[in-house]
Amino acid sequence: MTVETRKQTLHYFFAKVVDRLGYKFTPDEDLRDFLLEQEVLLEQKHGIPFCPCQPITRERAHNMTLVCPCIPFHRAHYDAMKRCWCGLFVHKDVTDPDSLPQIPASEVKRG
Ligand code: SF4
Repeated sequence: MTVETRKQTLHYFFAKVVDRLGYKFTPDEDLRDFLLEQEVLLEQKHGIPFCPCQPITRERAHNMTLVCPCIPFHRAHYDAMKRCWCGLFVHKDVTDPDSLPQIPASEVKRG
């Protein structure tokens, strides 16, 4: 399977998963294309489409929280930003993803 074909497959399945979580793919097509490609390359290396923006460690349990789409593991954090950490996914009502700040989890106030 080519990288492009795998990107399309991930796109198809991820769209279904994040839709149920209230998210969609970012409308920024260049960012979407780049991040999906990085995930395919990570999948080829590790066997799992890990997050391209968060470092994997030697701890498997931790690494499993970084498998895309990792939204369920970081829900409060991402909901506060209306985007996931990489920005691959945004809340469904977002039309200008560049306006969304990337806030460290430690700075997100818990409501
Ligand atoms: S931060 Fe976004 S791109 Fe990265 S794994 Fe989580 S959902 Fe996927």
